[in-house]
Amino acid sequence: MRLASLFAGLSALLATGLAPAFAAGPAATTIPDRALATAETLRAQGLKDDLAWTLTEDLTTSIGPRLAGSANDLKAREWMAARFRALGFDTVRTEPVSYPKWVRRSESGAIVAPVAQTLALTALGNSGPTPKGGLTAEVAAFASLEALQAATDAAVRGKIVYVANPRMSVRVDGADYGKGSRVRSRGPSLAAQKGAAAFVLRSVGSDNNRTPHTGVTSFADGVTPIPAAALSNPDADLLDTVLRRSAPVSLRLDLDCGLEGEYTGANVIGEISGRDDAGEYVLTGGHLDSWDLGTGAIDDASGIAITTAAAHLIAQLPERPRRSIRVVAFANEEAGLYGGKAYAENHRAEIAKAVIGAESDAGADRIVKLTATVKPSARGAIDRIAAALAPLGVTYDAAAPGSGGSDLSAVHAVGMAGLSLHQDTSRYFEWHHTANDTLDKVDIEQLRQNVAVYAVALYLAAEAEGDFGSAPGAFAKDGAN
Ligand SMILES: [Zn+2]
Repeated sequence: MRLASLFAGLSALLATGLAPAFAAGPAATTIPDRALATAETLRAQGLKDDLAWTLTEDLTTSIGPRLAGSANDLKAREWMAARFRALGFDTVRTEPVSYPKWVRRSESGAIVAPVAQTLALTALGNSGPTPKGGLTAEVAAFASLEALQAATDAAVRGKIVYVANPRMSVRVDGADYGKGSRVRSRGPSLAAQKGAAAFVLRSVGSDNNRTPHTGVTSFADGVTPIPAAALSNPDADLLDTVLRRSAPVSLRLDLDCGLEGEYTGANVIGEISGRDDAGEYVLTGGHLDSWDLGTGAIDDASGIAITTAAAHLIAQLPERPRRSIRVVAFANEEAGLYGGKAYAENHRAEIAKAVIGAESDAGADRIVKLTATVKPSARGAIDRIAAALAPLGVTYDAAAPGSGGSDLSAVHAVGMAGLSLHQDTSRYFEWHHTANDTLDKVDIEQLRQNVAVYAVALYLAAEAEGDFGSAPGAFAKDGAN
């Protein structure tokens, strides 16, 4: 009703010629037909791509684990810059990123009473160390973070807090990950504030291997980090059984790890120049760091490889797209999105130039869904990108938001439009953040589908006539992920 009367009013204004510019409204962003024809070529070429596999194999073989701040961090940055140059990217540069450096030296743990059993566990990022020689204490077990929250300090003081969060279920969209990672990120600080000696939780993963899943935790300001570790799923099952049978239960933890000053790494940026000189670009990439337990193949060598290979395919076209394609290999995503946050801060003032962003950081398996957060008048252009991706098996949820990915969430928060290309994560959370994150988990056919999807999406966004709504603060409140 209101809309109808508004249109009636506008028509009246138009008729009198008083406000033609206002009455015209925002022009719809469109994708030219010619670009859609080129996208079909890119789609076919992506499905034959070998570059993403070559890059993933090389990064995981010649360098391997890439814990932020480690010796391999620098090697990986040099590798990335050299690859961009060798592949003919027009601009290659770095932007510094600083963060506290965390190191892992050794770790072990066991149940010592009422039975003696070794536990497969791993320290969480930012965990404090145990005293030299280890720490033995009674377990205070809780079914959830809320139960720990409700506990008195007396029930926790001097004990090893164990939160028995449920095992992650296998889901295409990894829906349970948020619940588990919340326990991981908040539990240790909460336990420390109540005087606990240490914290353990069930790994946030869906597998049944004795490969514990690490991941970052954080301690509130003024809280001294306590030792914090994740048990593998079978080991958490064992501890649950022992706790059910008899009490009290005691554990021994020996974690040699902790913070070691500040480190300055960098985001490594490679750009394929567009044919227009307006400074506008489509942002993509992945994170160059990984956890140290595996070789970081699916998290996130494959993301770096997919987006680099897609940009490289676009660069081989007879004509460059209108806008540039910028690939960012982000620094230290794992310990708290440091690279993404630094990028958002550095580029906040000219965020409108970053017309839209799409990052790959959920493995190497098939992309199954597209979502986007753009201005309403650009929705038709997203519809056309979705139609171009449909033959690759990508569905489109027009109602759901899309920030563009983990590293891009900070960039999205300062106003960049986002395009999220969601991978099937049903295998991902078996291996994520474990010693099993290795090259053999990457399936080349699914990797190629990713390259095809990114090449088509990045190219069409770069060719769009009109923008997607990027502007300072434009999407501050949409809660996209
Ligand atoms: Zn990742």
